[in-house]
Amino acid sequence: MCDQKSIYIHVPFCVKKCVYCDFYSETHLSLIPDYIKSLQKEIETRSGSKDKINTIYFGGGTPSLLPVKDIENLLQIIGDKFLISRDVEVTLEVNPGTVDLNYLRQLKKAGINRLSIGVQSFNNNKLRFLGRIHTADQAVKTIDHADKAGFDNISIDLIYGVPFETETRWLEDLKQAVMIAPSHLSCYMLTIEPGTPLGEKLKKGLVSPLDSRVMSRLFKKTSRFLGEFKYEHYEISNFSKGRQNRSKHNSKYWDMTPYYGFGPAAHSYDTKIRSWNHQSIETYIKDMDSGRLPVKDREILTLDQKMMEMIMLRLRTLEGIDMNGFESQFQISFQNYFNEILDHIRKEELGRFQDKRFALTLEGKVHLNNISEVFAKKIFL
Ligand code: SF4
Repeated sequence: MCDQKSIYIHVPFCVKKCVYCDFYSETHLSLIPDYIKSLQKEIETRSGSKDKINTIYFGGGTPSLLPVKDIENLLQIIGDKFLISRDVEVTLEVNPGTVDLNYLRQLKKAGINRLSIGVQSFNNNKLRFLGRIHTADQAVKTIDHADKAGFDNISIDLIYGVPFETETRWLEDLKQAVMIAPSHLSCYMLTIEPGTPLGEKLKKGLVSPLDSRVMSRLFKKTSRFLGEFKYEHYEISNFSKGRQNRSKHNSKYWDMTPYYGFGPAAHSYDTKIRSWNHQSIETYIKDMDSGRLPVKDREILTLDQKMMEMIMLRLRTLEGIDMNGFESQFQISFQNYFNEILDHIRKEELGRFQDKRFALTLEGKVHLNNISEVFAKKIFL
């Protein structure tokens, strides 16, 4: 595990809610100035130690709604309060339709060195279905502007599995993405979450989810197609041109490295305790105004919980679970303790051992949820 920590900043503002989204964000953009003040206070209050930081991530919500001056000030405060590694990765999520070339140039100057652009699709019908605020042309223009602004570390987010998706249609998105050739791609399967407008439509029978077998086929097709274009499938939803272009920030989550989470609804983890902030901008601002930390709750992780998390997170990755690391952390042999489960997985060709590691095959990743449940039963029952 890396000895350098991460910082995640949650920016809970969006121009309009997308119909599938269950991330915490609100559309009251007039609250941005007060939110920024509170955020600065939270960072200053919680940064008692001079922890080393090598990744900073502005996620959301729509971080590209923040004025660059505010982003610059936040980075300045973080730089004053923490020890920032020379090769720090500083990512900001960008929603096409909220930025122009000038904004992106200023972002670069402010110290952002990686962009994650929420393209989602190059098909206008699909974008409309998802309730996105931008068109395919605007997405392409944003990528072009990011390139012109000097960003060489660009990630594109795509979504697949909308109810009317076909393999041909999804391949069109992938083909367009590889033509643009970003250094990183995240391809997320659409899940219809309860409580979202799409979830409501599902309840009323107005939409039906894509058949799970079709979804699995799309997942495997994505991996193979991107593999042909030299994108390494290094995590279940993530692909990079070589190891150097992996998301350092997200890789640290999958390694269970400690992180600070600032802002409403942000989670923090310090290897023993996980805590999370109130999921309300108003409560967050009120708490910071009255000198209280905006923490809603915290939990102390038991060894069993940590073991389960490690298994779930590492099975998502290309490298899988490191036998030696597991044994030194939990004082038991992964291979012996889960012997029966592992035998079964291997017989079904869903996973394999290699170089003292255990990882799922592509077919195994299709069944990740079921496999995780089997491990959970062994650990908790
Ligand atoms: S822009 Fe992103 S965070 Fe905002 S509603 Fe859409 S998916 Fe959710």
